[in-house]
Amino acid sequence: MRRWLIAAAAVAALAVAGAGAWAVLDRGAGGGAAAPGAATSPTASASPSLGASPVATPSARPSPQMALIPLPPRVGRFVAAAAPRLVAGPRRKLVPILMYHLIGTPRRGVPYPDLFVSTADFAAQMRYLEAHGFTAVTLTQLAAFWRGAGELPARPVALTFDDGYRSDWRVAAPILQRIGWPGVLDLCLNAVRPHGDLPTPLVHGLVRAGWEIDDHTLTHHDLTTLDAAGRHREIVVSRAVLRALTGQPVSFFCYPAGRYDAAVIAVVKAAGFTGATTTNEGLAASRDLFTLARIRVHRDMSLANFAKALAP
Ligand SMILES: [Zn+2]
Repeated sequence: MRRWLIAAAAVAALAVAGAGAWAVLDRGAGGGAAAPGAATSPTASASPSLGASPVATPSARPSPQMALIPLPPRVGRFVAAAAPRLVAGPRRKLVPILMYHLIGTPRRGVPYPDLFVSTADFAAQMRYLEAHGFTAVTLTQLAAFWRGAGELPARPVALTFDDGYRSDWRVAAPILQRIGWPGVLDLCLNAVRPHGDLPTPLVHGLVRAGWEIDDHTLTHHDLTTLDAAGRHREIVVSRAVLRALTGQPVSFFCYPAGRYDAAVIAVVKAAGFTGATTTNEGLAASRDLFTLARIRVHRDMSLANFAKALAP
């Protein structure tokens, strides 16, 4: 509840400041404003899994209970993985950052079925990683390692989930929790709106499950098409809202649809982010901290190709 109040206060303050932010948490701010314009990306505006989940959508009106429920039984009891063997350096180590969107099976006619990876495939991929000595880390841990300020497991991998879909909470989190691994949620605040796919209580559930929450803007617009005010809103304001919402530092940014240019990167840096992820294919390198490559996990990716993509 306290976090709700903080988030509501943050949004109200932003509105008063004339930041131009729509009331992301309009239920919290009491505004009821709608997002201006539809998001440009299919991944945020036309969530294929909307309505597909058996989990009831909480009502739009916040209540003290909403911050506490609903959570699947396993989420919220995060158990640390068996301590992996940690190594220090080499600081220039290349690390796979996997990119997922929805975990599950697309219903017939959903607009972007390739955003799905089946639950069975996802579970098999996690088993593969575990069996081959990989350990999932957060981007913050990865950046600390690259800076020489932390250690990493011998075979680190980061698991990112873009946009904010209910299947992150309902399917991916329980699977990861059994292994004791964190996920990284690149959260577009569109998903948190009333009737969005990942309401605030579920985001809090992921936080409690050890997930890192990173910034994927307010509305998923192509940032290279926005003016300075638009970039500020989608990068700086969104970070402030996310920090209030999650209680996390929100240190990484994820460019919507992988679109960025020099002006966008400059704002991301000025906003205080540690780094940013793209949709550029490949292993992530420390020299590209604000244009980190990732490996897109495709719906029809065989386990052999999955394994191949991880190789340096
Ligand atoms: Zn996205």
